[in-house]
Amino acid sequence: MADENCLFCKIIAGKIPGDFVHQDERCVVIRDINPQAPGHVLVIPREHLESLDDASQKDEGLLGHLLRVAARVANDLGHGESGYRTVINTGAGAGQSVFHLHVHVLAGRPLGWPPG
Ligand code: 5GP
Ligand code: ZN
Repeated sequence: MADENCLFCKIIAGKIPGDFVHQDERCVVIRDINPQAPGHVLVIPREHLESLDDASQKDEGLLGHLLRVAARVANDLGHGESGYRTVINTGAGAGQSVFHLHVHVLAGRPLGWPPG
């Protein structure tokens, strides 16, 4: 169910603009407003889940779908060969700032490891 105070729920509902690169029945993909790499998109489930920690057994199919869409979009955007990184920040201490589950896809520059 949508959370009326949630930024990503508002983008999904069209109340706030988003630069959509993919949409299907379970998720949307938008370009990040403050990209940390030349290619930086967010795979966002339509259903409001606060974080990965909020997901339960019933969400296993959805979680798999988000990762498969991340891979497909990364390839569609031309990052399949050079590589890309998928990141899920969970909790403020890990850098989560929007509390609606999302998968970051980062690509288009060398990505260091370990991450900060
Ligand atoms: P988090 O910090 O929760 O892992 O990731 C949230 C991401 O959402 C950040 O990378 C941030 O730049 C992005 N973001 C925040 N507000 C907006 C917005 O209004 N539109 C879009 N497209 N991205 C946003
Ligand atoms: Zn939401």
